[in-house]
Amino acid sequence: MDKIFISACLLGENVRYDGKHQKLSEKIVLQWRKEGRLVGGCPECLGGLPVPRDPAEIDSNSKQVITVNGENVTLPFMTGAQKALDLCEKENIKFALLKESSPSCGSNNIYDGSFSTRKITGEGVTAALLTRNGIRVFSENTINELAQLIR
Ligand code: SF4
Repeated sequence: MDKIFISACLLGENVRYDGKHQKLSEKIVLQWRKEGRLVGGCPECLGGLPVPRDPAEIDSNSKQVITVNGENVTLPFMTGAQKALDLCEKENIKFALLKESSPSCGSNNIYDGSFSTRKITGEGVTAALLTRNGIRVFSENTINELAQLIR
């Protein structure tokens, strides 16, 4: 049975920077949960960041992760990404369902680093690391594609 690494906020855990969640209510996700396929985790929390925390974006020039207050949080973001990868490898997970647009979990687009709500094509730190290591990353917008692939 294929397992899926899923962003903890999509499971309903209050781990986002603002202390809230983004719980998915799709039937297929509930079914996957019942089947025991879902392994949840929040990369930013795994990297040691608190809840709530300052919002952060990837600077489009330096590629560093910077909070709205100018703090460089690239290291905890990278640490969390590595811990998420370690978890996937330990559980032999080949698929991930990650929250779109997050500087950690975004797989198709991210905010542009100017905190202006403008999005650009790009990947978050965790989505990029998982993809580089052969894990196929999907988002809440591509659940149906994921559902076609898992066995
Ligand atoms: Fe959700 Fe990922 Fe952000 Fe954690 S890092 S709150 S799992 S989008």
